[in-house]
Amino acid sequence: MLGLQSIGGESANMEVNRVFDAIVIGAGAAGLFCAAHAGQRGLRVLLLDHNERIAEKIRISGGGRANFTNRDLDLRAPQRHFVGDNPHFCRSALSRYTPQHFIGLVEKHGIAYHEKHKGQLFCDGPSQQIIDMLLAECAAGNVAHWQPCKVGEVQFEAGEGYRLQTSRGEVRAPRLVVATGGLSIPQIGASDFGYRVAAQFGLRVVAPRPALVPLTFAGEGWAPYADLAGLALPVQIETGAKKERMSFHEDLLFTHRGLSGPAVLQISSYWKPGSPLTLDFAPGVQVDAELRDAKARSKKRIANELAQWVPARLADAWVGQDAALARPINEAADKALAQLAERIGRWQITPSGTEGYKKAEVTAGGIDTRELSSQTMESKQPGLYFIGEVVDVTGWLGGYNFQWAWASAHACAEALAAQQ
Ligand SMILES: Cc1cc2nc3c(=O)[nH]c(=O)nc-3n(C[C@H](O)[C@H](O)[C@H](O)COP(=O)(O)OP(=O)(O)OC[C@H]3O[C@@H](n4cnc5c(N)ncnc54)[C@H](O)[C@@H]3O)c2cc1C
Repeated sequence: MLGLQSIGGESANMEVNRVFDAIVIGAGAAGLFCAAHAGQRGLRVLLLDHNERIAEKIRISGGGRANFTNRDLDLRAPQRHFVGDNPHFCRSALSRYTPQHFIGLVEKHGIAYHEKHKGQLFCDGPSQQIIDMLLAECAAGNVAHWQPCKVGEVQFEAGEGYRLQTSRGEVRAPRLVVATGGLSIPQIGASDFGYRVAAQFGLRVVAPRPALVPLTFAGEGWAPYADLAGLALPVQIETGAKKERMSFHEDLLFTHRGLSGPAVLQISSYWKPGSPLTLDFAPGVQVDAELRDAKARSKKRIANELAQWVPARLADAWVGQDAALARPINEAADKALAQLAERIGRWQITPSGTEGYKKAEVTAGGIDTRELSSQTMESKQPGLYFIGEVVDVTGWLGGYNFQWAWASAHACAEALAAQQ
């Protein structure tokens, strides 16, 4: 692993240099990538992070194996995999820096990887390899790195640029890049710094909310399902009506407080508080017709028949809620079977909330994209850029959030270099 000192250390820079071409705040995925690229394009870059350890989210991502991109990203319509008030905003950056570009970098550094599910690429080894790769790229760009370093007041003067008061003294640069991420997982360094800087300069922020997050259910309606914690099964899940309707076919996991698993994490980014979810527990199966058919030929209990298409625990939970269903299938009323099929194929339930930022993989909302250039990521405040998760662009589960971090960082670094 590369020592942090090796990327142009503080000691080398502190005495002689407090003026940079660009300062990047936040040494996560987007900040490291932007600093490295801008440094390699000849800019004197300072990268600051308030945390003891940088890039913690890369380290814990993908179960410790970093799902670093997704090769199924549709290059003709990359916005398809992203949520935000203006989903088209991300198009420009994502089509200029593609998953193939990042895969090329990973291969150049000799990092072995594999595809897991629906285009998701993971490291074969620990995700630290991606962090080391980014640090090596920063070293190649002579990026100065101060960390931990707290940033206090941010001032701007026309003609001079940005002046930052930090725990290591004052620094200046004509350009400032905010890459401080969202609010998820506060225990590893998340802060609202980016939103505060935006507010200071009069830039709008779309209200942040937890996304890619488990959903919770409260009250008596949930009681019959509380015992199903640990049960996982593939489902079709949907929310929203008409144009806003969104649907995923993924695995669902019952938890003690509600629902999780990829199906629920994906739909959580689209779910609006108070609105219901609709789940099909036997996607592709015509449960109504199957139950009618079984009634004509079988004397087995209904729960046993149902267990052909859904896990037995789930079948028991459903049948157990209605005494009329606790009997052999040939004795069941057609109406009761039709109602059961409806509940298996179109179960409607309204979450009471989410597990919040402690469990959310990302933060939806953020810097309003109407305040930013989709080409450069520069805001309406001259010389002030926002990249990565702090922006109102949220990817699907599966490597799309890192791809946004790389692509938005690349667009920004290119713009910084072009202005030199
Ligand atoms: C458990 C988990 C697993 C995930 N797995 C994946 C995955 O496999 N694939 C995927 O694509 N995405 C994944 N994500 C999402 C992904 O990690 C983020 O979208 C991505 O890291 C965002 O990059 P970023 O650089 O914008 O922000 P971050 O990576 O969060 O970096 C922000 C940096 O800014 C620093 N910072 C914050 N506030 C300040 C401040 N006031 N002053 C100075 N520095 C500050 C932080 O310390 C941090 O280093 C996962 C997220 C979590 C929580």
